[in-house]
Amino acid sequence: MYAPPVQRLITEFSKLPGVGGRTAQRLAFHVLRASDEEALALAEAIREVKQRIGLCEVCFNLADGPRCRICLDERRDPELICVVEEPSDVISIERTHEFAGRYHVLGGALSPIDGVDPEHLRIAELYDRARAGVLREVVIATNPTTTGEATALHIAAGLREILPELSVTRLASGLPVGADLEYADELTLGRAFAGRRVV
Ligand SMILES: [Zn+2]
Repeated sequence: MYAPPVQRLITEFSKLPGVGGRTAQRLAFHVLRASDEEALALAEAIREVKQRIGLCEVCFNLADGPRCRICLDERRDPELICVVEEPSDVISIERTHEFAGRYHVLGGALSPIDGVDPEHLRIAELYDRARAGVLREVVIATNPTTTGEATALHIAAGLREILPELSVTRLASGLPVGADLEYADELTLGRAFAGRRVV
């Protein structure tokens, strides 16, 4: 139906989250109508982000160098670590202004059914930080979903084995069950943080 380059663009857009065939087609036509300058700015932004942004070598948050801004910030409490599933969760928690520690981004949640086992996440690296560091508290802020809860329990047990005296906490309830942190509003997430409990 379309010339191959147009079909290719539609196919690429349809791979984006939340974009169905219809929207993919609309986006492709938007690009076709745009000036060369506008359209290439989009292509260039994608190219640049893939080239310049990597993962922090300490916490696996997004970083435009070896370490992310939070790990480089001396004012952030190094004894307090918040464990999240994805870099987008760091943004959600930062927006609450309730947390002044550092992060550890797992890269997902345990889901044996989908083939996601502990070795596929950055759990070993978290345990290394627990062994090496001067941790006082680890706040587990995985999503309040089945996989997020399973991940929290797994990590809490692992951390207790390494550092029995470490305080391991979980965000308080009040977060919508089954939803991603990403979609929690700042106030709810902030309260969940303030009311975290020991697991
Ligand atoms: Zn970092």
